[in-house]
Formats: sequence, C-alpha cells, structure tokens
Amino acid sequence: MNRREFLETVAAAAVVPMLARQDPANEWGAPVFDLHFHLRPQPAANLAHLDGAGITKANLLTRGRVLDQVKALQAAAPGRFTWFNSYDVTQPDAEQVLTQAVKSGAQGFGEMKFHVAADGPELRRMYALAADLRVPILIHFQEVDHTPNEGTWSTGFAKTFEAVLKAYPRTTFIGHADAFWANVSEDYHNEAVYPTGPMRRGGVTDRLLGDYPNLFGDMSAVSGNNAMARDPAFTADFLKRHQGKLLFGSDCSCSDGHGAGYSNPAAPRMSGKCVARETLGLLKRSTTPVIFQKIVWGNVHGLLRIPAS
Ligand SMILES: [Zn+2]
Ligand SMILES: [Zn+2]
Repeated sequence: MNRREFLETVAAAAVVPMLARQDPANEWGAPVFDLHFHLRPQPAANLAHLDGAGITKANLLTRGRVLDQVKALQAAAPGRFTWFNSYDVTQPDAEQVLTQAVKSGAQGFGEMKFHVAADGPELRRMYALAADLRVPILIHFQEVDHTPNEGTWSTGFAKTFEAVLKAYPRTTFIGHADAFWANVSEDYHNEAVYPTGPMRRGGVTDRLLGDYPNLFGDMSAVSGNNAMARDPAFTADFLKRHQGKLLFGSDCSCSDGHGAGYSNPAAPRMSGKCVARETLGLLKRSTTPVIFQKIVWGNVHGLLRIPAS
C-alpha cells in the first residue's frame, strides 16, 4: 500500500476501534503497556490487537524509514503508541538513520535482530549510539534455529554479554528472545528452542538482571512465556526479585487479540492462543497486584520517561 492509501485507511479506522473498545483497565485489573508490538501495515489491525487483548498502549517496533506510518497511527489513536526503530546494523548509514529516527520521535532502538555477534563491531556501535542519544536498545538473542537454516541472532549472550554490560554502563539494554529467557535456568546449553522442566537457580540471565542496573528483560513472545510457565515457585520468586527490571510485551502475531491465526511450530501449546493474553494471565496468577502493575505498566513508563497516565 502506498502512503496515500495508508493515510486513507488510517482515517477510516480511526473511529471504529474507539467505539468497539472495552475498558482495558477492567479486564486485567491494571492498564497494560505492550513493549513488543510489531507495526502492522493496516492501521486498523494494530488497534484490533490492542483492543482485543485488553491493552491500553503499545510500543511499535519498526524497521527502516517508517515515520509517515508511525505518525499516522499515532494521530489516529492519540497517546496509545510509542515507537522504537531499527535498521540493518551492517549498513554504513545505520547510525545516521537511527539518529534521525530518534530526532523524529523514536524512543528506542529495536528490535535489533540481525545475524551478528552480540559483542561484535556492528552492534557495539549501536550500543554506543544508544547511550549518546539516551535511548534503550532492545535485542533479540537466539542461538537455536526454529526452521532449517534460519541462522542465529545476536549470538554469544551467555558467554559474552556480561562484558558488554560492563563496557557500556551508560547504555540501557533490554534483552529478549530464546537465548535470553532460556538462560534464566542455569542448566541451559543451547539444546532446545524452548527448554522445559524445573528451573535451576544461578542462570546467566537471572544473575545479570540482579547485578547490572543497565539490563532489563522484555517478557514477550513464547520465549518469555515459556520461561515463566516452567516452574511456578521459581517464577513467583523471580518476578519478586526483578520486579523493577521486567517489562511485559506480546510479540504476538494473532489478528484479534484472542489468538486468531496464531501458530508457532516450536510451541504447539500456543496454537490458536494470543501470546499477550497467555502471558498476562500467567503473570497475574504468579505475582501480587502491585508487582503485576509494575511489570505491565509502571516500569516501562520510567524507562521511556513518559508519564504513566
Ligand atoms: Zn524478536
Ligand atoms: Zn495476540
């Protein structure tokens, strides 16, 4: 769709979802902010997921030059969307494009999902730039393929990321995806996409969240859900210990906020379900209302320096 068509569909979509919207605060007992929501080409589709899942606000994850689409959606649903931008970190103009995005209103970098090493030169220059611009950087860590020849993303988390956290103390890192969440358990060695069974204490991610004030955890996707679904007693304690460092996100691709069209071959249990709903329910069952509110709403407002209204 071209820009004119996009703006026309935004105008058409602007009224309907507001009418259809239920009061999200009632459904979950707190307003909800989705940190990890990929911008959808059809404007109404963005609002359909938020409204369907009982979500008040979302952070749009985008790539490349998308300012027109973001501004149009923000205008159609005032106050409901912040945005992060990403750009191919192997390209020479990556710093220039991302700097311009922040000047135009982007509040972070992400998601950064590229076939490079987590401590390699391509991402290191992004870590430095994020610190200079005072915005967080959201990174997808994955070491195990979901599909043949998928390749790996921001590799080396378990072995090398502590040195990165030390080297860039002014950078705010937000960790996400399979390797970040599987390494909450101490016994993980890249043997599964979504490991199962009880958690063993002392995992890298758990330790880094405790030791480094510049690391936060994005709980989105099946990876975040899986980590918190494995071991209820561990989960309750983990949420309590890291209550100021965890951020709810969905990374859900269902169409209606109720699971329509969702499937993940590596996680059959989630088929036909909305990842947002599944994780919100899991968090609500696993912790107190006060901690739940911080994870789904309060923490992100502090991190992005936006008022929690
Ligand atoms: Zn991701
Ligand atoms: Zn969903």
